[in-house]
Amino acid sequence: MENRYHPQEIETQWQDWWAKHRLDHTTTDTTAPKFYALSMFPYPSGNLHMGHVRNYTITDVIARVKRMQGYRVLHPMGWDAFGLPAENAAIERGIPPAQWTEANIAQMQTQLQRLGLSYDWSREVATCRPDYYRWTQWLFLQFFQAGLAYQKEAAVNWDPIDQTVLANEQVDSEGRSWRSGAIVERKLLRQWFLKITDYAEALLEDLETLTGWPERVKLMQANWIGKSTGAYLEFPIVGSEQKIGVFTTRPDTVYGVTYVVLAPEHPLTPVVTQKKRQAKVKEFIESISHESELERTAEDKPKRGLATGGTAINPFTGEKIPIWIADYVLVEYGTGAVMGVPAHDQRDYEFAQQNQLPIKTVIIPAKPELVKLDQAYIEPGILINSGEFDGLESPIAKTKIIEFAEAQGWGKARIQYRLRDWLISRQRYWGVPIPVIHCPDCGAVPVPETDLPVVLPENVEFTGRGASPLAHLEDWVNVSCPTCGQPAKRETDTMDTFIDSSWYYLRYADAQNDQAPFSSELVNDWLPVDQYVGGIEHAILHLLYSRFFTKVLKDRGLINFSEPFQRLLTQGMVQGKTYKNPQTGKYVIPGLVKDPTNPVDPESGIALDVVYEKMSKSKHNGVAPGDVIEKYGADTARMFILFKAPPEKDLEWDDADVEGQFRFLNRVWRLVTGYVEKNPPGQAATSELSPDEKNLRRAIHTAIKEVSEDLAQDYQFNTAISELMKLSNALGDAADLMTSSTYQEGIETLLLLLSPFAPHISEDLWQQLPHRNNPKSIHLQAWPQVDPSALVADEISLVIQIMGKTRGVIQVPAQADQAALETYARESEVGQRYLTGQTVKKVIFVDGKLIDSRKLINFVLAKGDA
Ligand SMILES: [Zn+2]
Repeated sequence: MENRYHPQEIETQWQDWWAKHRLDHTTTDTTAPKFYALSMFPYPSGNLHMGHVRNYTITDVIARVKRMQGYRVLHPMGWDAFGLPAENAAIERGIPPAQWTEANIAQMQTQLQRLGLSYDWSREVATCRPDYYRWTQWLFLQFFQAGLAYQKEAAVNWDPIDQTVLANEQVDSEGRSWRSGAIVERKLLRQWFLKITDYAEALLEDLETLTGWPERVKLMQANWIGKSTGAYLEFPIVGSEQKIGVFTTRPDTVYGVTYVVLAPEHPLTPVVTQKKRQAKVKEFIESISHESELERTAEDKPKRGLATGGTAINPFTGEKIPIWIADYVLVEYGTGAVMGVPAHDQRDYEFAQQNQLPIKTVIIPAKPELVKLDQAYIEPGILINSGEFDGLESPIAKTKIIEFAEAQGWGKARIQYRLRDWLISRQRYWGVPIPVIHCPDCGAVPVPETDLPVVLPENVEFTGRGASPLAHLEDWVNVSCPTCGQPAKRETDTMDTFIDSSWYYLRYADAQNDQAPFSSELVNDWLPVDQYVGGIEHAILHLLYSRFFTKVLKDRGLINFSEPFQRLLTQGMVQGKTYKNPQTGKYVIPGLVKDPTNPVDPESGIALDVVYEKMSKSKHNGVAPGDVIEKYGADTARMFILFKAPPEKDLEWDDADVEGQFRFLNRVWRLVTGYVEKNPPGQAATSELSPDEKNLRRAIHTAIKEVSEDLAQDYQFNTAISELMKLSNALGDAADLMTSSTYQEGIETLLLLLSPFAPHISEDLWQQLPHRNNPKSIHLQAWPQVDPSALVADEISLVIQIMGKTRGVIQVPAQADQAALETYARESEVGQRYLTGQTVKKVIFVDGKLIDSRKLINFVLAKGDA
């Protein structure tokens, strides 16, 4: 009877069996230690891609190993389901966003199930469903009550294509919208913000506690928060009671201030502008109103500025200095004003040169020859032209000048952050309605908790232009004020979808709760997440916002921990083989390339570049997960993804390597079914193992040790799979031991160690094994334990070197001490040949790792003898 490996048959069969026996259901037994394994949840686009498969497979292996190691594991999945694509589908195809999204969720859930991922689907969340967003609204009200949600008129990033406001983070380095690609404009609108700046210091400080996070992610967060220490100084305006406040990290240069610059939109601009300059100033402000923040601050762009005609006084020198406005100063950064120190700041230097403003040197380097005349000297140094502070070094001068300013009432020490408050308003339909009612008398009134959720209405017309579609719904918008009862209007903005994903990991702990977002008890039990896995593209926003939410909820007494994710793994990209025309930069469809060993452009005949790039439709280099599963099965796809590269590195898709993993699984299949066919009688373990059995047992326990170590901390899946291959080979070589209990131990161990990686084939073969009268799933078995005594070899190899050169290897008893080893070496054939008649000056021993069963002895001879 032929028994061949047919992954397509066994995989769905076992998936059904696992589902029927609720194998992936989270246990409620709280005696075991907990482990929360979490993948970043996907946007339900409708199609699973290889990046998803890699992310979820990594987390699944971790979850499965932890279960076998005795942990109770929470391993959920859900959908980050609000956002623009659903609304765009509604505009383009007339499908209601909810319907489009739910259809995509259903489709992706089917695709996920084919991968054999051990999710507890009873805890699924979808952020677009009222049973979830009700609590997003409830949490927003927590922020509102804490004074952490507020409205203000702000210059915002306006996407002229999507007709919506974007967060700074949604504008790329070229000043384009992350979604539409349009050049972003600036516009003044009344917007909702969350006060993340209140938590800037905590978000920065607690990075140090995140020892299980990649350093580069922590660095990216720290840079984003951007803490700087310096001084707040005030410059009185001539002819006015008002003062211009600036922040500087270089108070030691204050004697070198020769002008002050305001953001054109600064409220003091009209105050300082002289009458005859008013028209020009107005014109200037208008001309820059369409420039994005990035255009205005780009380093390589000339700065545009205009004198207002007004003057201020540098309180330190008593000098009158001109007040300018310039595009590179932004009203929402710091104080919206800067002091100009052209001698010691390169941007100020260029601005001063361009506008014939005076340049006054107040810092000189310790070695004066370092000064270059055509640029600013920006390093610290020694103060000159600085009154009583002359001769001081910059660091001391900073402190003294701040103290002096404070004593005179001119300023004080200040810490400033680059981080700004989080703009959460979106003029869009497919998001969580902000639960606020605007009353002409009471202002912004929160919707009472009992009226939550504020449900997204469904009778909406999608035009794709202008304000939120919600603003057109008279019936929905017009309500009475919850406080005074008079006619009022609902807020028509919806929330940034990053809010939905800032708390979903909490909901999984108590996903069915309809009385609260979660029970504190359950969340405090499961959280923080023990291992979070996701893409590096979320290194700043999603992770920073989630940390912010966690800290606020802790301060509100809802949870008892202040960091949500204990360990973070950012997996690398999946890259596909890409054919690129080096002259046109165009990507060629692989199917059109006739000879892959010598690829040429089918149109022009030009030789094509073959490169690996992130899979995408436009590059024709994608591999559909469904196709791979159809051809090889999910287990092979999983094995390939885990074997091909360490998880945090980029992975180059290679069909030949996929084939290699498929062959390995076939070898395992033949090995185990061959063993089963022989149907060896169950043999009691004898007290004394033969040398061959001992060797096999050492290979078995070496595999347990190595695989366990590879999966313990840094998740070296690729080397773990290599160990499985070694064990499989060792078993293949020891076929004549098939009736031995050691061989049975080997087969069982191989399947147990393989089961987190390739769950289906392992289950099938496990169930085929003889001697198993109680067929319990392999995934409910305990992780194999290392028997340290099995690792000890009877004999080891001794490498013999003469003067550092290897001359031979001999077998010696494992327990031999150094004196005995020297004797064995001297008496060996190698020793006889090289040492006879020589004077040994020194003997050096190098102990190899015991696992390699190797030691080394090196004979150093007296000079002239070798
Ligand atoms: Zn009212």
